[in-house]
Amino acid sequence: MSLYLKYRPQDFESLVGQGFIKDTLKKAIADKKTVGAYLFTGPRGTGKTSTARIFAKAINCTNNTDGNPCMKCDVCTGFHENKLIDIIEIDAASHTGVDNIREIIEKAQFQPTKTQYKIYIIDEVHMLSKGAFNALLKILEEPPEHVKFILATTEIHKVPETILSRCQRYDFRNHTAEDTRARLSYIAAEESVNIDGESLEYITKTSNGGLRDAISLFEQLIVDGNISYAHIEETLGVSKQEHISQFADKLIASDESTLKDIASLESSWKDIQLFFHDVLIYIGAKTGEQLTIGKDIQRELFVLDTLHDTYTKAKHSFDQYLTFRIGVLKILSSYNPTTSAQPVPAKIAPTTQALKAEKIEAPTTEKPPVEETPVVEQEESLFTEVQDIFATDEPAFESGETPKPSPPQTGDFDTEGFITAVKAVWAKAAITMSLRGSDISLDGNNLTIKAKTKVAFASLENPEAQEFLHKALQSINKTDISIKIS
Ligand SMILES: [Zn+2]
Repeated sequence: MSLYLKYRPQDFESLVGQGFIKDTLKKAIADKKTVGAYLFTGPRGTGKTSTARIFAKAINCTNNTDGNPCMKCDVCTGFHENKLIDIIEIDAASHTGVDNIREIIEKAQFQPTKTQYKIYIIDEVHMLSKGAFNALLKILEEPPEHVKFILATTEIHKVPETILSRCQRYDFRNHTAEDTRARLSYIAAEESVNIDGESLEYITKTSNGGLRDAISLFEQLIVDGNISYAHIEETLGVSKQEHISQFADKLIASDESTLKDIASLESSWKDIQLFFHDVLIYIGAKTGEQLTIGKDIQRELFVLDTLHDTYTKAKHSFDQYLTFRIGVLKILSSYNPTTSAQPVPAKIAPTTQALKAEKIEAPTTEKPPVEETPVVEQEESLFTEVQDIFATDEPAFESGETPKPSPPQTGDFDTEGFITAVKAVWAKAAITMSLRGSDISLDGNNLTIKAKTKVAFASLENPEAQEFLHKALQSINKTDISIKIS
């Protein structure tokens, strides 16, 4: 059983975060003031389905304490053992049709067998067809006394207004870093896993408030009862925190050695998007600490803004390294704090491929907020300032071609390109990691992924993952490919 399922909360007390929602639902149960239909909305992994299950159980629990299920009565134990037929969970993603909903309506007319209320939990409710929504609306308009609905969705804008207006709505928020950290530490202690502080921070940050992602990443990173940052660096290609803060500080100071840093990231095949994600977070925290609006903050904000644009562009870029290098060049060229606040006047016209690429990538309408200097002049000064680097650095820079170490290849299948494509359609660290740790080969139309661990196998076998793997293959023009996970 996966750790996520093992540590799925069973009562309100063990539910992580969502304090307001928890308290309101418990009070409604304690006061016997529950309504006929609820709608839980919010990002994935924030506890909507877990809350729905606990709520359904608590409403029917014969011995609840202040709205919290007792976990001992027939209802609580029956639900736990999957024997309770009066709490019905439906995944709308696989039951989208009107017939499914009609069936529910017909069955809803019958009294529950063992509980006070018959409860329908409809997950991913936005996936229902138009006809199904209409059928659902009919029963929501006049629900039988003994029936309650709990609808859950990540995409509230796809749920018709007529449905929304008949539900009591609860908005689930992303978990705070503190909540995620506390839950992971708890699981680590229960499972006797040693995890270092850097790794805990890394997982917390990467999961972005989704506890399910945090726990599955945590699980994947366990090696012999340990999670170490050195191992994470190795498998995920992330960079040391120290390296990140140094790089960010150098960038703010317009230190040209940042270009060399990017080249070395590239040659060690580090995940550059993750690296800049961390750089952004570091500078963001730095600007957040400022107490006065001085020159420093102007510079930091400019760097932050430019990097943020670059990061967004990189997601759709054919070459992420190139996009990030251009972003850094833009920052370096904008001003040189060691000489003057003004850009150095242009002497030589820009001719390199990299500058041409920048013009294509970033239209010249963009102006850094620091100075009023015309954009053309800035670009020329960029060249003056960085020409030495182009002249003396990696040959790849000089030639103007996209420098890139040969990715690991299997046959003529570009594994790294495939992983990048997967990341573009589904940015989930756990999947990327599973793929990196696997042997991938393409024989005709059959893609074989040999997973090296059980967890990697499970995460790749998952139907959702399969769907995204196919999408990724399509995006690199590989169609009609069958995927085999072994
Ligand atoms: Zn109970």
